[in-house]
Order: sequence, then C-alpha cells, then structure tokens
Amino acid sequence: MMTQDGQRDNGAPAVADTTQGSAEMMNEPCPAEDCDSNRANHEMMPKPGGSYEVRLFTCVECGHRWRES
Ligand SMILES: [Zn+2]
Repeated sequence: MMTQDGQRDNGAPAVADTTQGSAEMMNEPCPAEDCDSNRANHEMMPKPGGSYEVRLFTCVECGHRWRES
C-alpha cells in the first residue's frame, strides 16, 4: 500500500485563541458600592456593525462587569 507523506494535512500552525487571553489587567476603580478594588481586567470588544470598540472591564475582586464606550 502506498502512502503519500507529502500530502499531510496538518500544516496549520497553532494560533492563539483570540477569544481568550485578550484580557489585560489595569488600574480601574470598581463601580460596585460594596467593593473597593482598584484592579480590573480590561478587554476590547469590537462592536459588530459598528466602527468602534467597547472597553469591557471585569473586577478582579468581585467579578463585577461594566463597560466604557
Ligand atoms: Zn469589584
């Protein structure tokens, strides 16, 4: 039986998952009243159908999420 070693189909390079790992921690006061954290994960969320991006923050302490446009 003949095999074609030159026709292997696994040549795709490993790419980073752009939906994960894009968060960047930065200093941002949490707006939650019962939280005094000053650190939040920062993500850029491209708006479908729009030409601008929305900044999405997630508090590292309480997990509160808010956006800043
Ligand atoms: Zn918080």
